[in-house]
Amino acid sequence: MEGLWQGSGVGGASPELSVIVPMHNEEGSVGLLAERIRRVLDAEGITYEVIFVDDGSTDGSVAAVERLARTMAEVRLVRLARNFGKEAAMLAGYDRVCGRAVIVLDADLQQPPELFPEMLARWRSGYDVVHAVRADTAGISRIRRLASSAFYWVNGQLAGVRIPAHAADFGLMDRAVVEVLRQCREQHRFNRALVAWAGFRNTAITYNAAPRHAGRTHWSWGRLVGYAMDGILSFSVRPLRLLGLLGGFVSAMSFAYLTLVAILRIGWPDRAGAGFGYASIIGMISLLGGFQLLGIWLLGEYIGRIYEQSKGRPAYIVREDRAWRADAAESSRPVGHPSRITDAA
Ligand code: UDP
Ligand code: MG
Repeated sequence: MEGLWQGSGVGGASPELSVIVPMHNEEGSVGLLAERIRRVLDAEGITYEVIFVDDGSTDGSVAAVERLARTMAEVRLVRLARNFGKEAAMLAGYDRVCGRAVIVLDADLQQPPELFPEMLARWRSGYDVVHAVRADTAGISRIRRLASSAFYWVNGQLAGVRIPAHAADFGLMDRAVVEVLRQCREQHRFNRALVAWAGFRNTAITYNAAPRHAGRTHWSWGRLVGYAMDGILSFSVRPLRLLGLLGGFVSAMSFAYLTLVAILRIGWPDRAGAGFGYASIIGMISLLGGFQLLGIWLLGEYIGRIYEQSKGRPAYIVREDRAWRADAAESSRPVGHPSRITDAA
């Protein structure tokens, strides 16, 4: 796996581990999160960087990271030009990591940094991906949990990429895996499925997710449904095949029905068509109309994705990228200089 990447640190001094923290309005958690990361990783004796990707926060998150950087040189701050969503924020992090191992961690303290040593141990023993799988989430409603299980089942049936159930994006990846994720420049990203799709040697550890430390979840039901659809439609054309099967089934039924009508009409001319009146016609027309509209919608979902991909817009826009590490290439830029870099890859 050596040689797949070039570390961007100077003189081989780049950190061994990169922690990516996507954040959107998390000012209340940044300080404590960094404190816990520092405690764990200092005890581990590993060099590291913590990349906070600010995904268009409108609160004091950026100021909180800047305050933190005064006492923590491992911090790097990547500010996106607006809110692009967690998937894009993670990609912005992947595009900038220096470490040989990469951990993605939510900012809200639902995921304990105290798992890092276990993850690193698994990585050192030869695993490329260490999923952290939620055993339980405090403060999540039963219906949400049920919907989550249903999603993993449907996704497994339709998308053909097996994502470990209840594995959030929290986990460790070898740099080689991150390089693969970087090469996938799809507009509708679904990180966990991409990780599963990439393969490599996977293992999982379990943890109990804590309730949010501060702020509130950014996932409305609408957003979750859209995300679930991305998970399926970005990975498979199986729904289109099912549509084909449905079409075949309806055609076969219609053919059988017509044959039956013809036989009745020839064999029993007086009784033919009895009971097949207005209601059945309306029923058939609306049923078929419904199927057709559903089919057009499904095609539209795929075509819309082709349309968006064909525009080739960057997945995110960076308005500022600051590092405080002494060896970081970026620190040569004047601090605070708003470098307007776009996602060029
Ligand atoms: N997040 C982000 N951009 C967004 C929404 C969320 O970067 O548009 C971050 C958020 O700050 C947090 C992580 O993604 O660090 C997970 O979000 P959240 O806690 O709202 O999700 P949940 O834990 O409820 O699934
Ligand atoms: Mg959360």
